[in-house]
Amino acid sequence: MSGPVEHSSPREACGIFGIYAPGRIVAPIVFDGLYALQHRGQESAGMAVSDGTTMMVVKDMGLVTQVFNDYKLAGLVGYLAIGHTRYSTTGSSSWHNAQPMYRQAGGTEFAVGHNGNLTNTQELTASMAMLPGMATSDSDLIAELVARELDIAAGPAPNGVASLSAVLTEVLPRMKGAFSLVLADRCNLVGVRDPNGFRPLCLGKLDDGWVLASETPALDIVGAHFVREVEPGEVIVIGADGCQSLRPWPPERVQPRLCLFEFVYLARPDSRLYGQELHAARVRMGELLADQAPAAADMVVGVPDSGLPAAEGYSRRSGIPYGHGLVKNRYIGRTFINPDPGQRALGVRRKLNPLRETIRAKRLIVVDDSIVRGTTTRAMVAMLREAGAKEVHLRISSPPYRWPCFYGLDTGTRAELIAADLEVGEICDYLGADSLAYLALEALKKATGVPSAGFCDACLTADYPVPVPISLSKPGLEVSAGLRPGSRGTDTLAAPFPRRAGPTQAGADQAGPGQAGAGAGAGAGASTGTDS
Ligand code: SF4
Repeated sequence: MSGPVEHSSPREACGIFGIYAPGRIVAPIVFDGLYALQHRGQESAGMAVSDGTTMMVVKDMGLVTQVFNDYKLAGLVGYLAIGHTRYSTTGSSSWHNAQPMYRQAGGTEFAVGHNGNLTNTQELTASMAMLPGMATSDSDLIAELVARELDIAAGPAPNGVASLSAVLTEVLPRMKGAFSLVLADRCNLVGVRDPNGFRPLCLGKLDDGWVLASETPALDIVGAHFVREVEPGEVIVIGADGCQSLRPWPPERVQPRLCLFEFVYLARPDSRLYGQELHAARVRMGELLADQAPAAADMVVGVPDSGLPAAEGYSRRSGIPYGHGLVKNRYIGRTFINPDPGQRALGVRRKLNPLRETIRAKRLIVVDDSIVRGTTTRAMVAMLREAGAKEVHLRISSPPYRWPCFYGLDTGTRAELIAADLEVGEICDYLGADSLAYLALEALKKATGVPSAGFCDACLTADYPVPVPISLSKPGLEVSAGLRPGSRGTDTLAAPFPRRAGPTQAGADQAGPGQAGAGAGAGAGASTGTDS
């Protein structure tokens, strides 16, 4: 299969799930939970299941339904489990990096699933004197860190058994960056959210047990009721003694910074974050966009699926009729990448097709949630014009995406971001639209319904809450180990659009983040666009 595709939006990082339900066979429940989280990662899936004495792990490349079937689930007997769906951000897309990660250590065994990105992997590998190749992703590194501490805690006695939760309180403060985790040993389930809470994690209750999940729809599907979000800087330990809350970080280190793009695009519309249902928040984004950037038009069209709620809001507020102008192929599943720009239009057509009779001779307002690289949007605008649209006015329900994410999203390098150093008018020209407007940051935060809550907006403002290393790149650990990254581990795509070269962009890279070189190596203006 050779066609393009890239998303017009940032791509997800991972979904995590955990369950503790004594007396029940939980593998089918984990399957359902992962199925509800499939949108967060489609590269690989896996689960680790314990019956109290033995842990079994099954993981493989592919969708949840491709990795698991009744036969495999029947072999996973136990009442305690964690599960994971992966989209790679650090470490290549390969079986070895599929999760959960598993280790035997400290007289026990454990597994870990990770959503996010560590930003101090080099510091950690150096502190442990690890040889190249010993950890091939930041998640693998977390498993190695925990395993070493378990071995130390168990001591030299042959029957020593270390406590996972006790070890975590020592290990976690050494980790920096974004990490929501689920862990399990033979008898305990643990949930962790980093002190900034970049990635979501919620706690649910079954009649006979507990559930942890990245998003609330995964609780709904397994019949668990929502208890609360795991708080930034909190560790939840679930076992025979019940559900306990630990706080391994000092209070001054805890500073909520939930990823703003969970609200814009990443999480499901039926998810609840900060007490808000995301569909309603996305409709409000469209309403505020209509206030901020009106246009004379005949119809408002949303780009399926994630642009639809904002288009609904834009239409409602502007009074311009809402219509279905684009049909999405529901079976597109994961995307295909082909760096050949000549194939872009075909890639868009695999995903979207215009309703010609609906849009012919109309002035369209086309609403999408974000523009990252711009190539997909450009091809979509051309497709709409070719289908007979008289005018195409683009309205985006988030601000320009100018800086790379180092906290668990795959946005490409700074050189690949169309808004990195182009003004809105220049972007509009490149996209071939009649007009282009982005929702302002303050309006976006207002639309969340919780404007004063703590958010990360670093990709919009370069205000990185945790300093990021200039050498961080998707295949970073493998490259340093001399391994060949997997086929998806590319950070070397050339910028597909015209760029300003030279001092202007380099200067912006250096001056922007202003924190430990944040964003600097992330593209530093080179059109070859490597992170490292
Ligand atoms: Fe989310 Fe952007 Fe922050 Fe990454 S940089 S965590 S995408 S808000």
